[in-house]
Amino acid sequence: MNRKFWLVLGFLMALSSCEPAYAMSHARQASPFPSPSPSSIASPAGLVPSPTPSASPAPSPTPSFSPHVRFIPDEYYTTPAERAKIGSAGLKAAQVIQSPCFADFMSKRALIQTNNRTAAQVAAHLQALSGSVSVMMYYRCMHGLGCSSAVAYRQPPSTEIHLNRAYFTTALSDCTWASTLGHESYGHALGGYDHAFKWSPSRSYSVPYSIGGADQAQGGDAFDRCCHD
Ligand SMILES: [Zn+2]
Repeated sequence: MNRKFWLVLGFLMALSSCEPAYAMSHARQASPFPSPSPSSIASPAGLVPSPTPSASPAPSPTPSFSPHVRFIPDEYYTTPAERAKIGSAGLKAAQVIQSPCFADFMSKRALIQTNNRTAAQVAAHLQALSGSVSVMMYYRCMHGLGCSSAVAYRQPPSTEIHLNRAYFTTALSDCTWASTLGHESYGHALGGYDHAFKWSPSRSYSVPYSIGGADQAQGGDAFDRCCHD
């Protein structure tokens, strides 16, 4: 009889005999209790809370999560620290977009430029997207516009995302990076959604901005709601 068996047996007996909970801590010793009824030990394993406790700790906090979209840092145009950031933020982006929170937020939003999909269909479409997206870093300050005016760009039809180091430092949170990765990849490159070039209040209701980048005055965006650092 191993320890786990005795813990389970003790638990069952504590239940069946209405013994105080401390009885469990003594259950691994030779039983001082009367035998429990056969029916209560017919399948003790079936009463063990799942998942079954393991001797070794889980290697990752989210071992079962499988991202549909993977973000691959460009080996040449990234530093080791940036590669680590792209890895963690990319996983975060996929987790947020595959979450029930994301589906709820998007399906209830007054989206525009949806390519003839309802909001619920947009949410389902985004959650079903898959593929890999290359990410590279560059550095550019725009004369007269400052360093952070252009934080990211793509060159269609390439799905590669270019992030400006002038804005994206590794000190920024994973959710800040993930929000832009979500906007550029799920919104534009993989999802095929567009938005106006010029700012306006309504632009925040486009699909890419509703994923990430919407103004707070327009209700914020899905990453504001669903991403937690
Ligand atoms: Zn955009």
